[in-house]
Amino acid sequence: MNKNSFSEMPNKDGFFGDYGGSFIPPQLESVLAEITKEYEEIRTNKDFKDELAMLYKHFVGRPSPIFYAKRLSGKLGGADIYLKREDLNHTGAHKINHCLGEALLAKKMGKTKLIAETGAGQHGVALATAAALTGLECDIYMGEVDIAKEHPNVVRMKILGATVVPVSHGRKTLKEAVDSAFEAYLKDPITQFYAIGSVVGPHPFPMMVRDFQQIVGEEAKVQFKEMTGKYPDNLVACVGGGSNAIGLFTPFLEEENIDIYGVEPSGRSLEVGDHAATLTYGTPGIIHGFKCYLLQDENGEPEKVYSVASGLDYPGVGPQHSYLKDIGRVKYECINDSEAIDSFFELSRSEGIIPAIESAHAVAFAIKLAKKVGKGKSILINLSGRGDKDIDFVVENYGDKYIK
Ligand SMILES: *Cc1c(COP(=O)(O)O)cnc(C)c1O
Repeated sequence: MNKNSFSEMPNKDGFFGDYGGSFIPPQLESVLAEITKEYEEIRTNKDFKDELAMLYKHFVGRPSPIFYAKRLSGKLGGADIYLKREDLNHTGAHKINHCLGEALLAKKMGKTKLIAETGAGQHGVALATAAALTGLECDIYMGEVDIAKEHPNVVRMKILGATVVPVSHGRKTLKEAVDSAFEAYLKDPITQFYAIGSVVGPHPFPMMVRDFQQIVGEEAKVQFKEMTGKYPDNLVACVGGGSNAIGLFTPFLEEENIDIYGVEPSGRSLEVGDHAATLTYGTPGIIHGFKCYLLQDENGEPEKVYSVASGLDYPGVGPQHSYLKDIGRVKYECINDSEAIDSFFELSRSEGIIPAIESAHAVAFAIKLAKKVGKGKSILINLSGRGDKDIDFVVENYGDKYIK
């Protein structure tokens, strides 16, 4: 493996191997080319880097700590489990990392409105926060099913001054929200900036969002070494679009001794429409302007997907993950709804940390992995977000089983 192979990705057309690129309507081509050009300039600009670093420190509360989950590890009797605490960020998840970057870029480009889709509402809240901070307007497209499920986040966005636009077609979840946000963007790509919520979409978004999220892995590399004298033996993160995962993984990809796992939701069954395990069960295809593994029907239309975690139910996945799967550098595994909910309570009760249901998928896999790799090994989980947003839903639907 060429030493710089990962850091040089994507190529100038936005491809990670066969995946990524930019499959978009002609009227967007010049707009995205402009975003790419501005981003390429800004990413190395000292003022921009200083401003982002200042906001990460004083607004988000970075660096997020790494916590050794001693009681959980002791109970399992296997590998030592550590948590990168992205749940402690302002707004409660990793998404603020790229939203601030995207908002600063939009502002610099003279845009007046940020628009985006949201699933669990985490991206919407993070973007509405970044919009308030930078003085930009903000429209958030959200499926009606998710609006009902993620009530606190909907209210939060409104308090922050954003407009929440309900999406009522199809499954009324994340994929449809992306469709609607895309349509709105096509109508006015000049004053609006589409701040995509993950490492998906046409070039340059998968690259840009990855670069902004990379702070997670960069911090972790230094922190973990300080704590233990070495790097972790295993990395684990949940994968919806793949931004929190790629953020943790990127600085470690060239460390060949480290085993890296992305965790997808296998939902309530493997029937079509009951899961969102894209890398495990999908095939290459095109969605929302880029090529990736895709859960698709025989006509190449995205299939219906589902996960108990709203932030994970997307039929596509980041192009870089698609590439990392093919070359075997990252292994992608599945965790189902009930395993995730079990781990939601397990982490809450053994460590006093209530994880987002999305992050609970990563915890569930790490629990299995800890027993398998055994004592003396270490696992670093990206705890992508906190579970406050999920508590009502979990208690309503699973309270009987877990709460006395
Ligand atoms: C949105 C979200 C995810 C999934 O998005 P990725 O881009 O795959 O990281 C995971 N965890 C939390 C807490 C989220 O809000």
